[in-house]
Amino acid sequence: MSDKKYTFEEIVNHLVTSGFVYKGSEIYGGLANSWDYGPLGTLLKNHVKDVFRHHFIRGIEYNVEIDPAIIMNPKVWEATGHVANFHDPLVDCKYCHSRYRADDLIKEQRKDLDVDNMNQDQMNEVLASKTIKCPSCEHTDFTPIRQFQMMFKTFIGVTEEKTSTVYLRPETAQGIFVNFKNVLRTTRRKLPIGIVDIGKSFRNEITPGNFTFRTREFEQMEIEFFFKPGEDMKWFEFFKENCKEFVEKLGLKDEKVRFRDHEKEELAFYSQATTDIEYDFPSIGWGELMGIACRSDYDLKRHQEMSKVDLTYLDPETNERYIPHVVEPSFGLDRLMLALLMDSYEVEELDKGDSRIVMHLAYDLAPYTLSVMPLSNKLNEKAKEVFDMLRVDYDCIFDTTGSIGKRYRREDAIGTPFCITYDFDSLEDQSVTIRERDSMEQRRVKISELKETIDSLLRAKKTY
Ligand code: ATP
Repeated sequence: MSDKKYTFEEIVNHLVTSGFVYKGSEIYGGLANSWDYGPLGTLLKNHVKDVFRHHFIRGIEYNVEIDPAIIMNPKVWEATGHVANFHDPLVDCKYCHSRYRADDLIKEQRKDLDVDNMNQDQMNEVLASKTIKCPSCEHTDFTPIRQFQMMFKTFIGVTEEKTSTVYLRPETAQGIFVNFKNVLRTTRRKLPIGIVDIGKSFRNEITPGNFTFRTREFEQMEIEFFFKPGEDMKWFEFFKENCKEFVEKLGLKDEKVRFRDHEKEELAFYSQATTDIEYDFPSIGWGELMGIACRSDYDLKRHQEMSKVDLTYLDPETNERYIPHVVEPSFGLDRLMLALLMDSYEVEELDKGDSRIVMHLAYDLAPYTLSVMPLSNKLNEKAKEVFDMLRVDYDCIFDTTGSIGKRYRREDAIGTPFCITYDFDSLEDQSVTIRERDSMEQRRVKISELKETIDSLLRAKKTY
C-alpha cells in the first residue's frame, strides 16, 4: 500500500457514495451530524465488535458482558456528578451568532494558556481581552460563557414534570457500576472481575462534526475492571498491553497510532494514571479513539453514598472488606471504525493510466468476505448454486450487473477480499476462478474444494 496522502473529505465522500454510511433522515433533508450505517458499515461494525469480544471477553478469563438499560434512575447521574458537572462552556459570537465551546476556541488560538486548568471566570477574562477571534467572522465580541448540559433529557410517563425527568445515558459505564453486586452474586466470581458493556451513548455535543468522529449518538465499548486496592498499576499496564494487541489485530498502521499518557496535572483527583490512544486522522490530525483510566474506588463509593447500598467486597482470602478499585478501558466504536476506514483507503495506480480504489481492511473485518459473479446472465442459475452453498458460512454478495472488470472494482472499493467468477468453462470443469483483492491474483479451484480453499486463504490472513 502506498503512503500517498488522502484528504478526510475525499475518504468520507467514498464512504457515503459506496454505502458504508448514509446521511441520517436523508429523505427529510437530513439531520445535522446524524449518520446511519448502511449494510457495509453495519457488517464492519459487527466485525469490529467480534474482534473486541474475542480479545477482551473470551481472551481475558475475568471478563463478562452485560447489557444494561440506556435510561437509568436519574439518581445515577447525580451520584456520578453528571447532573452537576457534565456541561460544556458555550459562547456565541455577538456579531454573527456562531456558537462555540469556549475552551476549544481558547485552546486553538492561545497556545500560551493552559485551558484545561481554567475555570469559567478565567475563560471569560480571556474572551474579554479580545485576543480571541470568531473563526467565521473574525470579530472578537462574545457572550459570557453559559454552561450547557450535555445529557439529553426526556420524560418518563405522561407528564413532563421535573419529577419525571430522566436522561439518555452519556456513557455505558454506569450500567456496569450499578450492577456490580448483581454480577458478582450471580456469576459466583471473585475479584478480579471485568464487566463489559457495549452500546449506545448520547451527548448533546455543542460542536459535533468531522463526520462520525463526534456525533450526538454513538456507540461505546467499555470495561470496568474491579480488583483489590493497591493493584492499580498492575492492571493498568495489563490493559495498556491488551489495547496494543487489540489495535494490532485490527490492523491499524503503527505510525498512525500513539499512546498518550496524561500528565499529572491532567489527571482527575482520584486517578493514578490515564492514557489516551489516539489516531492520526487525515486532514484533522490526532484524535482520541479510546482511553484507559485508573478510577480507584471513586464510582462505587459515589454509588454507595447515594444509594445507601453496601457495595463493599468481602475478600474471601484475607477476610478484609473493601470497595474494589477499577481500571476502565473505554473505546469509541464509531471512532475506531472511522480510523479503520481512513487507514485502509487507497487509490492504487494501475497500468495504462488506470486506477482503483481499494479498502485494505483486514480480511476478518471486511464487510463481505466474498462476491460470487456469473460471467454472463446465462450462468446466473448455476452461479447462484455456488452462492447458496457459501452464503450460510460467509458474508457474501451475489453480483450479476456490469462487466467483470467493473464488478472487481466495486468489490475492491468496499474491501471484499475474494471475488469468485463462474464462467462458461465452469459448466465443463466444475471449477471457478478466485481473485484476491490485494494481489489481484487469480486461481482456478474446483467447486467441491471451494470452501476448503477459502478457509485456508482466510486462515493465512487471520488476525485474531
Ligand atoms: P472527547 O474528548 O473527544 O470529547 P471524551 O474524553 O469525552 O472524548 P470519553 O468520555 O472518555 O470521551 O469516552 C470514551 C470514548 O467514547 C472516546 O474515546 C471516544 O472514542 C468516544 N466518544 C466520546 N464522545 C463521542 C462522540 N461525541 N462521538 C463519537 N464518539 C465519542
